[in-house]
Amino acid sequence: MIGLAIGHSREGDNGAYTVGPNSISEHKFNSELVPLITPMLKVPYKVYDDYNARSYVGAMNYVSRKMREDNVDACIELHFNAAGPKATGHEWLHWETSRGGKRLATKLKEQMDKYYPTLRSRGVKARGRGQRGALFLRKTPCYAVISEPFFGSNSSDVSLIMSDLDKLAKVYAKGINNFYV
Ligand SMILES: [Zn+2]
Repeated sequence: MIGLAIGHSREGDNGAYTVGPNSISEHKFNSELVPLITPMLKVPYKVYDDYNARSYVGAMNYVSRKMREDNVDACIELHFNAAGPKATGHEWLHWETSRGGKRLATKLKEQMDKYYPTLRSRGVKARGRGQRGALFLRKTPCYAVISEPFFGSNSSDVSLIMSDLDKLAKVYAKGINNFYV
């Protein structure tokens, strides 16, 4: 079973916001994206969208415990990136020593490259202790990926993605389905 964790699912944490008109938070964006992904999945899934915790660390402990109870064998925490206005592209993070995590990240990246050939491919990136997102990647009891499919801080990334959300949903669904083949 694949776990789809919506990043920033903790009360008071919405993550970054997209630039430009109709600004939307990471949390809201991915809450709306996940229902487009799940009908295309060929494997069982569970959505995690309510981190019952007061801190980031507490949230990671909470979602890890839930995933262990649910026997999730792979998971993705959905985000989008934010930095300066010129940073662009997609990247896929996995725990540095997790070969399964790296494989899932690679399957997702491959679909993104295919469906968004004009968007910069920043690649699959290993994360270790102390790095951004490391706790989710390390604590979850399964192969894990943090997805950053575009920069919410870059207006051309945002318009490219917003123009067709079904396409991004397809990237996730095909990447996940290919991982389980
Ligand atoms: Zn985020």
